Amino acid sequence: MSETLFTRIIKRELPADIVYENDEVIAIRDINPQAPTHVLIIPRRHVATINDIAAAEAEDEIGRLYVAAAHIAAEEGIAEEGYRVVMNCNEAAGQTVFHLHLHLLGGRALGWPPG
Ligand code: 5GP
Repeated sequence: MSETLFTRIIKRELPADIVYENDEVIAIRDINPQAPTHVLIIPRRHVATINDIAAAEAEDEIGRLYVAAAHIAAEEGIAEEGYRVVMNCNEAAGQTVFHLHLHLLGGRALGWPPG
């Protein structure tokens, strides 16, 4: 597994506020939240970007990120009012950690289109 910030959190080498986990997914609160709820949903297996999903045959794991997002949104009490999930790919989109992760954002009105 390539070493990233998130693999170190997954291995418990670094602390994080873990809100949910199962055999394939871990979800932590973002250290710099952009909304009252800002959770990062991360596959345990390292896949760097969206561009690598097909080669890694990670389609099923990515689907499970969305299942986890819906579960966490319900737990956070934002499922009915609505929330956003975002996955940034590479630098122009703002990806800074090269280990796939879904941002779950909610708890406030979210503008559309995004800036
Ligand atoms: P990206 O920019 O790659 O889409 O998202 C990376 C996210 O990781 C950012 O929202 C950033 O705030 C968050 N982040 C960076 N370092 C840490 C950390 O040490 N702990 C946690 N929980 N989140 C982090």
